[in-house]
Amino acid sequence: MPAPADWGVKRPERAEVPTLMTMEGSVGAPPQRVCPNCARISWATGPQCPYCTGRFRRVYVTPQMLFATAAAVVVLVALMLLLAANQLNNELDDRVDDVNQQLDANFDQIRKDVQTQVQQAQGGAAGAVITPTPTPFDTATPIPTATTTPSPAPTETTTPAATAAPTDTPGETRP
Ligand SMILES: [Zn+2]
Repeated sequence: MPAPADWGVKRPERAEVPTLMTMEGSVGAPPQRVCPNCARISWATGPQCPYCTGRFRRVYVTPQMLFATAAAVVVLVALMLLLAANQLNNELDDRVDDVNQQLDANFDQIRKDVQTQVQQAQGGAAGAVITPTPTPFDTATPIPTATTTPSPAPTETTTPAATAAPTDTPGETRP
């Protein structure tokens, strides 16, 4: 934005700043202080303002104070991160529990559906007695379906199948 001419004008001012810095800002120089009464900047080392002789409040920032504030900030950030991580873990656990419950519910629903289907396929009063025993076994469910397939066959074969099914399933459950 500034024209080259302005740069040329400001250069002498900038040239003065380094000399001030070298004079006042050297290693052993006193810190720049603002007077609380007259608000003027001074480099006076004494307890009073050289312009209005107002008393300075001693607000020196020591390296220990800097370190303490930095440590406090780090500890606070670490605490916040820990809390956030814990909360995230809890939420994840809750979600996993929810998913597990849903899976269990679905599995139970499927089991009940299979039970009802098996009951319907077996039909008759004998099926109602048998169905409690096959439910605990997942392998027992295919066996009734095999017995249902002969059912389309003539009515004479269905009656032996119905009598054979109760004898087979208790025999399997006993061992
Ligand atoms: Zn002052």
